[in-house]
Amino acid sequence: MANPDKVLVVSGPSGVGKTTLCDRLLKDEPRVKACVTATTRAPRPGETDGKDYYFVSKETFKNWLEKDEIIEHTELYGEFYGTPKKSVDEIFAQGCYPLLRIDVDGAENLRNKGYKGVFIFIMPPNVQALKERLMKRKTATGDMKKRLARVDEELKRSSEYDFRVVNDDLEKALKEMKGILASKLFK
Ligand code: ADP
Ligand code: 5GP
Repeated sequence: MANPDKVLVVSGPSGVGKTTLCDRLLKDEPRVKACVTATTRAPRPGETDGKDYYFVSKETFKNWLEKDEIIEHTELYGEFYGTPKKSVDEIFAQGCYPLLRIDVDGAENLRNKGYKGVFIFIMPPNVQALKERLMKRKTATGDMKKRLARVDEELKRSSEYDFRVVNDDLEKALKEMKGILASKLFK
């Protein structure tokens, strides 16, 4: 029986492999469920409202904040990102663990609010290679450049996390994450 008060937080710089690792984890661990967060940024091609994010206007986001419906939020690249309380509670109600793929500020806010669980930071095996890959991405727009600039800032704060997993070999990283969940989350 799950202990429905623990969250699984996964952070790491853009391009490090968070989405890939989380998608695999969600497939293999039915007790973990993706928590849909909200953002004011526009959907990218292929993204669906209510699945990838709740895509909302700044007005709606501010309204949710005022009503205390957002448990943590951050402002990145001129847009708001935040976790609706409802999204987390729905998953707890199913006896499962919410997986939150949020940034370092969001993780800090959750910790300060007393949320317990497992906080994992995904590390690149090679920082320079990550930056070069980000620069080469076809979407190397101003948007991607801002993400690139944030890599060092995020990496500096990796020490705030309980666990750091290096995503070199995908299967190895996944195994390590599963081991952490088995010993620290599912207990
Ligand atoms: P993030 O969500 O952190 O921005 P993604 O999961 O989108 O990162 O991964 C960025 C790219 O890196 C994707 O093309 C993905 O297939 C690739 N990738 C992820 N993990 C690995 C790995 N261990 N080895 C090689 N490529 C990887
Ligand atoms: P992207 O725009 O690439 O989808 O996400 C940019 C960053 O916002 C990522 O680091 C992602 O983890 C983070 N993020 C997404 N949703 C939330 C959220 O609800 N709260 C916080 N604090 N960060 C989020």
